[in-house]
This record gives sequence, structure tokens and C-alpha cells, in this order.
Amino acid sequence: MRLRNIPGADDAILNSAYCIQNPKEQKGNWQSVFPSAQPLHIEIGMGKGQFLMRMAAAHPDVNYLGIERYSSVLLRALQKMELVPLANLRFICMDAAELTEVFEAGEVSRIYLNFSDPWPKDRHARRRLTSRQFLERYNQILSKEGRLEFKTDNQDLFTFSLAELSEAGWRLDACTRDLHHDEVLSVGNIMTEYEEKFSSKGNAICKLTASR
Ligand code: SAM
Repeated sequence: MRLRNIPGADDAILNSAYCIQNPKEQKGNWQSVFPSAQPLHIEIGMGKGQFLMRMAAAHPDVNYLGIERYSSVLLRALQKMELVPLANLRFICMDAAELTEVFEAGEVSRIYLNFSDPWPKDRHARRRLTSRQFLERYNQILSKEGRLEFKTDNQDLFTFSLAELSEAGWRLDACTRDLHHDEVLSVGNIMTEYEEKFSSKGNAICKLTASR
């Protein structure tokens, strides 16, 4: 998902109360951004924010942060938040490669990756959000009991992700290649924009959860 050069997107983000402007300054102090101190869950590559907005509304006892690299995409989530503000949801416009500069060790309880860009060329493997390089970043910021949840319709990316998790010594807690027909894992599933789009075309949705 990449909407280029939407006029005013950068300014809208700079002026939005829902967007954290200097995320590195909050390192170790993220609870102060929210009205209540409660577990912190983040989505990396949140796109237009549908998943997080539904999660934040369904789970007011969790604080959510959405991370998106492109201002033109994040703008769509900000526009939705202005219509339906949620006290337990905030956004950051940044590249996830900088995660360890933004979060203290153990500060995050859960990481969601939904329909991450596949980067199909081998030479770009380290850019995939489930590469061993990103898993090591997650390892640093996740709490001891913290968990990673990943959904995709891309079978090759899912296979790659399983191999990277195994190589990095993570424990696979749950796994399906057909989420919407899985009696256990489909319970309470909240769909993302991409999940709605690809499942409506008949693509099976893969999901895993993993911990260390
Ligand atoms: N999660 C949404 C969904 O399921 O509908 C959006 C999926 S879209 C295919 C992937 C999103 O991840 C894009 O908006 C992209 O800009 C963002 N993204 C990819 N790499 C990123 C990175 N390193 N840091 C932050 N965002 C990233």
C-alpha cells in the first residue's frame, strides 16, 4: 500500500494530536502518552488503521500504537480517528528499522504484523518484517511474556517466516494456513483492510503466533 505525495499529509501528521511527533523521546515512558497505564501492543505496518481501530475499541484495557512508514497512508488512519477518537490508540510515522531507538527493552507486550510487504527478491529478504534482523529487534523490545502475531495470504512469506522464527529460536505457539476455517484461531479475529480484500478473492489467510 503506497499512496504517494498526498498534498498536506506531512503537515496533517505534524499537527495531529493522535500522532506522536518525537517517538525517540518517549523511549521507556510510553505509558505517559495514554490516560491509563496498561499493556502496550503495537502494529508494525498498520496501513490505514482499520485493524487497530477495531482492536482499540474492543480492548479498552490495552494501549495501542500503530507504526506506519508513509505519511500518505497514515493520513487515512488519522482522518478516521478524527471521526471516532479512541483514547487508547496513537500513531507513529517511522521506519520499523528504528524500533530499538523508540522502545525500551521489554516495553512492548505484543507485536502485530498484518499482511507485511513480501519483498519477493532474495536480496531484499532482510527488509521483510519477519526476517531474522527484524526478529532480533522484536526480541529486544518485547516483554518476557511478549508475543508476536503475524497474518498474511502470502504462502511463500509465511514459509519464510516460519523458517526465520525457528532459526532465531522462537517458539511457535499457534499456526494455521487457513485462519478463517480454523475453529480455534478464528474466534475473535479482527480483519485488516488487506485481509478483507484478499479473503474476498478466495485467498486463504495464514496466521502464526510466536514467543521466546
Ligand atoms: N497492515 C495493513 C493491512 O493488513 O491492511 C497494511 C498492509 S500493507 C501491505 C503493508 C504496510 O506496511 C504498508 O502501509 C507499508 O508502508 C508498511 N511498512 C512496510 N515496511 C515498513 C517499515 N519498515 N516500517 C513501517 N511501516 C512499514
